Amino acid sequence: MRMTERQCPLCGSAGNSKVYSEANFDAQRLDEFSFASRKIPEYAHYRLMLCGKCDLIYASPIPAENTLSSKYQEAEFVSADESGYASLTYGRVLASMLSKLPDLESALDIGTSDGAFLEVLVSSGFDQVEGVEPSRASIAAAKPEIRSLISEGIFDSSCYQGGKFSLITCFQTLEHLSDPQKLCRDIFGYLKSGGAGLLVCHNFRAVSSKVLGARSPIMDIEHLQLFSPVSLKIIMENAGFTNVKVKRVVNRYPLHYWTRMLPMPNTLKKYLIETSKRLRIGLVPVSLPAGNISVTGYRNS
Ligand SMILES: [Zn+2]
Repeated sequence: MRMTERQCPLCGSAGNSKVYSEANFDAQRLDEFSFASRKIPEYAHYRLMLCGKCDLIYASPIPAENTLSSKYQEAEFVSADESGYASLTYGRVLASMLSKLPDLESALDIGTSDGAFLEVLVSSGFDQVEGVEPSRASIAAAKPEIRSLISEGIFDSSCYQGGKFSLITCFQTLEHLSDPQKLCRDIFGYLKSGGAGLLVCHNFRAVSSKVLGARSPIMDIEHLQLFSPVSLKIIMENAGFTNVKVKRVVNRYPLHYWTRMLPMPNTLKKYLIETSKRLRIGLVPVSLPAGNISVTGYRNS
């Protein structure tokens, strides 16, 4: 596997960076399953650097980009009910910002997976709703009436007109990109005046991440960077957003989903998940701050 060095994707320099955690991965195990979202974590990761200026953790070196994007196209969809629960969580964040949008004409969801959040956008009253998603298996898992709203592929700014959308959302995707700053600039560029961006990602400064350390599920081979409230604000402001606000997200998932995040061997975890589902206690929804943060920002030009 050909590996390339990266600089900090926010400040463009490695001068403020030190090693946060040495590489821990087996190239033989980078199979399809490792690249699907929300699977059982395996604690594998590339070498992680911490930029002291931006408060950003970023992977370096990483595999060449073409290898990575083909991996995402082939990724399997493994999480139907979880994506539904996540969408309801993000829907609550959306509800708090609807009145601040210029209108509800059009919304785009980047990395929409099975389009569960597109349903939320439609029911929130948006006229035109679109999603983009690289994984064919995830699109195939979408409800028939939602599937036609999803374009297959990696988000490519050349596909969209500038100044078009009232709202662009992007959940749990920023960590996966080799150039996350470009995505935020593209989102800004494709918003109409007054339009908003809403993104959600992991917070490596969250208590849960600190307690678990290298056993945290966010220390993962699929994450090319990890944000904190500081770095998430920086990436949005660099892109041109104003009135940027970072908030903690309280996730609501069935109990068996939280079991997946526990630092214990996979065999024991599978046993606990199956048993709790069978006894139905695993299906009970539980709300916890799982170490996710949302950021909102507006285009005032
Ligand atoms: Zn930096």
